[in-house]
Amino acid sequence: MTGSDTAEWFEPDWFETGRKAVWPPYARFEAEALPVVAASGVRLTLADGRELIDGVANWWSACHGHGHPAIKAAVSAQLDRFPHLMFAGLAHESAYRLAERLTRLVPGDFTRVFFTESGSVSVEVGLKIALQYAMITGRRFATRFLAFRGGYHGDTLATMPLADPEEGMHAMYAGVFNPALLADLPEDEATTAALDRLLADSAREIAAVVVEPLVQGAGGMKMHAPETLATIRRLCDRHGVLLILDEIFTGFGRTGTMFAFEQAGVVPDILCLSKALSGGTLPLAATLARRPIAEAFERDHPAAVLMHGPTYMANALACAAANASLDLFEAEPRLEQAARIEAQLKAELEPCCALPGVVDVRVKGAIGVVQMDRQTDALRHRFPPLGAWIRPFRDILYLTPSLTIGEGDLSRLTAAIRRVAAS
Ligand SMILES: *Cc1c(COP(=O)(O)O)cnc(C)c1O
Repeated sequence: MTGSDTAEWFEPDWFETGRKAVWPPYARFEAEALPVVAASGVRLTLADGRELIDGVANWWSACHGHGHPAIKAAVSAQLDRFPHLMFAGLAHESAYRLAERLTRLVPGDFTRVFFTESGSVSVEVGLKIALQYAMITGRRFATRFLAFRGGYHGDTLATMPLADPEEGMHAMYAGVFNPALLADLPEDEATTAALDRLLADSAREIAAVVVEPLVQGAGGMKMHAPETLATIRRLCDRHGVLLILDEIFTGFGRTGTMFAFEQAGVVPDILCLSKALSGGTLPLAATLARRPIAEAFERDHPAAVLMHGPTYMANALACAAANASLDLFEAEPRLEQAARIEAQLKAELEPCCALPGVVDVRVKGAIGVVQMDRQTDALRHRFPPLGAWIRPFRDILYLTPSLTIGEGDLSRLTAAIRRVAAS
């Protein structure tokens, strides 16, 4: 934090000593962090007793708010049985129930679920499934991936090259790894023709096309129409290439439907889920494959064994949390809440359009974005004094609140954005 109003904030001893030891994400060592001692619903309680309304929801994942009692109870009951079991040779109810539920919940003929512990790894698993599928089906030379400008698919070595090499956060790694083929999203005739040509020229060497449906999150909350996604699906079909959808951010109601791809009336071949899968409580991710892909792995072929198996795969606490989260989606009106949030975000962020320095305001489901004509990192310290936990990045101020947020709390967040955008 900078600014005089924060200098006297109480700092507990663990914070003073620990800050010299932790390595913060995407930041230099001196990056500031706020000591939090409790989190409940949409409220974070700081060590000095102050409360902030959470506009970010644990990096877009805490869809039911913090500390939902139903998730706590499910995790606690699982903890009494066991927190974890190795997933090779041992089976447990939470993971088996969750896998079967996901195959029923996700539209399309998804028949197999591979569990991992982070979104990045679930994308890597999707890539490996596509590579091995190519080997099984006699396309050993198909070893590359096609991704889109503005995209982001994780921080690991194989997912970094799928991100936008110029705009993405991993630009310093450009040239270090085998780059993905890169295309513009097919949003008009020219870009559609360009993608069609690129696929026509390169389909032979492409194992899969990878894209975030409807909203490119970490690339700056860029939104595209469902028709764009439908075009990608159509071109993948035309050229016989698998489509991997990364719904790690968009999944579980964030864009207004349970999964963003439903709005385009298409189904991917491989689907990656994480973030809100466990309600934003415990690390969990899932990679789902449709029947034809899964069936290829039933063939008698040396590549028909997926060579992956993390130690904490299908962690029992995380799977219990995910089952409880899905129960909440069944019992409570999350999609209606997302629709209400969308309407409110539109109404309350729209006035920002008139402000100097604002270049765009856009809303999709429970995602509200005010894009500025400059980098916004320097504005971060302005929000806590307004009682808001909002974390601008790149050139945007944005909200991705819990779907359970109340109208009054959301109004306080949008008011904070309007105020900071105006100054
Ligand atoms: C967050 C995110 C990832 C990476 O997930 P981690 O759990 O942070 O590894 C990948 N793709 C998208 C679209 C994401 O939003």
